Amino acid sequence: MIDSKSFRQYVEESERSVLSPYAAFSADTKGRERPLTPCPVRTEYIRDRDKIIHCKSFRRLKHKTQVFLSPIGDHYRTRLTHTLEVSQIARTISRGLRLNEDLTEAIALGHDLGHTPFGHAGEAVLDELLRDEGGFEHNEQSIRVVEKLENDGKGLNLTLEVRDGIRHHKKSGTPMTLEGYVVSYADRIAYINHDIDDAIRAGILSSEDLPKSCLDRLGHSHGERINTLILDLLEHSFMQPRITMSEDVLEQFNVLRDFMFENVYLNGKAKGEEDKGKHLVEQLFGYYLNHVELLPPEFLMNLEADGAKRVVADYIACMTDTYAISVFEKLFVPREWSSL
Ligand code: MG
Repeated sequence: MIDSKSFRQYVEESERSVLSPYAAFSADTKGRERPLTPCPVRTEYIRDRDKIIHCKSFRRLKHKTQVFLSPIGDHYRTRLTHTLEVSQIARTISRGLRLNEDLTEAIALGHDLGHTPFGHAGEAVLDELLRDEGGFEHNEQSIRVVEKLENDGKGLNLTLEVRDGIRHHKKSGTPMTLEGYVVSYADRIAYINHDIDDAIRAGILSSEDLPKSCLDRLGHSHGERINTLILDLLEHSFMQPRITMSEDVLEQFNVLRDFMFENVYLNGKAKGEEDKGKHLVEQLFGYYLNHVELLPPEFLMNLEADGAKRVVADYIACMTDTYAISVFEKLFVPREWSSL
């Protein structure tokens, strides 16, 4: 405490004098489902950032696939390093636009908490298996994680703005804050560029394969491209009530994204192991649907409200690639008799 004000109140006041009028001010948060006594030091958004960093789902991101399944090479991205790159890019943009960097960071660190093992292959198979239950999407699952599954089933009790940004981080989403839009752009800027880098490392692409128009407009290296995209976004969004890019940069960015879908995400050699990942998720799903009683209590407590298929999907979606493989081996692969 300095005079009668808390450290937090000083931070809240400095937000009012420094941030853009279009920023989300932490003192104006719409709050949490269960109100908390204010922290003397941290604003509500800093608190959410910390809650996310300390949760188990965040630590599990280190063993979840980004594009390359359970990569042996240490230099490939995982869901965790992807999340850190998104956070870094999003914070740079937010600081440039004088938006709320703490809110941006909290949304970015939480945006992929609901990702399944085996990347989009795991998501696609759970979506099929839950077709009659409204399907499965990783952004909606991130919300289930922070609202229902984390913290022994009590949820993380995050502010509305952070939950909204997590729910709407996909390209088609319409977040309630500009910070939410920043994370949505930062997600795309991060994954398209780092997946190019990983695909080159894996020998699936070489930089000469990338569309020439994209290289000419966005840059020839990983760093140049990220720089161009961020600068363009800053120039066209500064002190504006919306986040946008120039038409020509956005066009080349979309060309690059389409190129990655055609050559890496949907057709590349990285897909080779995906069918095995899908099969494994399907087998685990069938097994636990017949043995729901084996699920941990924080999943079982939602059985009555959400039904067996949804809680089994919750359990499997929380698994890392490595854990899912070891459960599968335990359940379905015969073991050698260890004593002579
Ligand atoms: Mg992401």
